[in-house]
Amino acid sequence: MQSLEGLGFDDGDVVGPPTEVATEKRMGLRQDGLQRLQRFVPQAGRDYQRFRNVDRGRGEHWSVSSLSPYIRHRLISEQEVLDAVLSEHAREDAFKFVQEVFWRGYWKGWLEHRQRLWPEYQAGLQDAEQDLKRNNRAYRTYLQAVSASTPIIPFNDWVTELQETGYLHNHARMWFASIWVFSLGLPWQLGADFFMRHLLDGDPAVNTLGWRWVAGLHTQGKTYLATPTNIRQCADGRFDDWTDYDLGLNRLAARTAQVEEELTACALQVTGIEWPAPLMGSCPDYRGKRTALLLTEEDLAIHCPLRVDAVVALSPGNLSPIGEDSSLVTDFRRRAVVEGLEHATVLLPAAKKSNPMDPEALASWLANEKIDLVVHAYVPMGPALMNTLELQQHLAARGIAMVSFMSDYDRMVWPHARKGFFQLGKKIPEFLDTMALGSPETLQPDR
Ligand SMILES: Cc1cc2nc3c(=O)[nH]c(=O)nc-3n(C[C@H](O)[C@H](O)[C@H](O)COP(=O)(O)OP(=O)(O)OC[C@H]3O[C@@H](n4cnc5c(N)ncnc54)[C@H](O)[C@@H]3O)c2cc1C
Repeated sequence: MQSLEGLGFDDGDVVGPPTEVATEKRMGLRQDGLQRLQRFVPQAGRDYQRFRNVDRGRGEHWSVSSLSPYIRHRLISEQEVLDAVLSEHAREDAFKFVQEVFWRGYWKGWLEHRQRLWPEYQAGLQDAEQDLKRNNRAYRTYLQAVSASTPIIPFNDWVTELQETGYLHNHARMWFASIWVFSLGLPWQLGADFFMRHLLDGDPAVNTLGWRWVAGLHTQGKTYLATPTNIRQCADGRFDDWTDYDLGLNRLAARTAQVEEELTACALQVTGIEWPAPLMGSCPDYRGKRTALLLTEEDLAIHCPLRVDAVVALSPGNLSPIGEDSSLVTDFRRRAVVEGLEHATVLLPAAKKSNPMDPEALASWLANEKIDLVVHAYVPMGPALMNTLELQQHLAARGIAMVSFMSDYDRMVWPHARKGFFQLGKKIPEFLDTMALGSPETLQPDR
């Protein structure tokens, strides 16, 4: 089995790498995530603020939480994480950590306000790959980059860490992307795709927009340059025994270049969000209907506001149109969905359960069960949405309706994510007041 030690816990810890712990000690992913959270909470205050930028290297990421794979699928919700941290730290002390959690909501909301961006980016990947293949030199560089054999040693280490653990520290992600774009001269699109296929927390919004931010396409004129000094400063002394020449850091670009925007103006246009109407309170239409709750990998928290007769799930689809997803990522996503279903069965014991299925098989199952209505948490932009839309078509052909509901968190945060993070950041104190942290509703029942 491949190692996931990069997530920062050694064998002696209660919490080890997600798949290994979950398999060998029969611990569920959510349990694993909750233990990580509990273990990290004491560090989430001033210590996080001080040390979060230090990339201590594979297996040593203890100055950050490593919670992103769990938060990404809402195996643990943002609300739960914030509640745990703010139960132990004053807001001023945990300010930096809290802000990072809201950065996630910012990217999710920002992309959601531009419904055409991600589909266009995805549709352009094959062309980007073909263009690269036509340029022998650039394609050779690409093959060197993805096989960890560039002349830049730390870059090769990050490639290996990413492939073998599914995780990279935030700074390593920024350096990686910057070197990919500005030093190796490769297209950001293919780098983002490579990340998506290997990160356990790979997220269509945070990843795509993270790459665009580094390349200077998010905030006009603002690029991120990885420099030998910055890499050394944040590397916890790991590179001190070698010169820049030994490490290949002398090959880093000394300045950023302008990256051409290849997405169309349409893709960048603010399209708005179709906010689902609240289900509770005004739902006479749902009475007397056979209803199923649909889970997707986007939101495995069970917060269905209706009584349901069945619980079903869509199997996670492929993440990339041009390459294979890593087996670590595939296993983690599959496992997360299966556990989401198991948890739903515990919380909704009267509901019949199916295994995760593809859209067509699931539509047949629902029709056989004489389901009239499928309800699901809002599915944001990404492969899960494409799957959900396909399911919707199959269901419509069978006369089965679909309706979505939205988590309070997304409904609160996303309206403020249309422009820069600053607008959203100003609202954080108000969000925290609204979230009733520390109340019994905050924590979901254990799985
Ligand atoms: C090029 C690039 C690609 C990225 N791709 C992803 C991705 O696909 N999925 C993903 O979850 N994050 C992504 N990030 C953001 C960030 O690097 C990771 O969220 C973070 O490193 C996860 O580690 P952690 O859980 O230890 O974070 P912590 O530092 O412990 O932060 C706690 C939580 O806050 C959120 N968070 C932290 N930093 C950021 C950030 N910069 N932006 C948004 N949310 C953040 C995450 O949910 C994280 O789990 C990317 C960043 C860059 C520069």
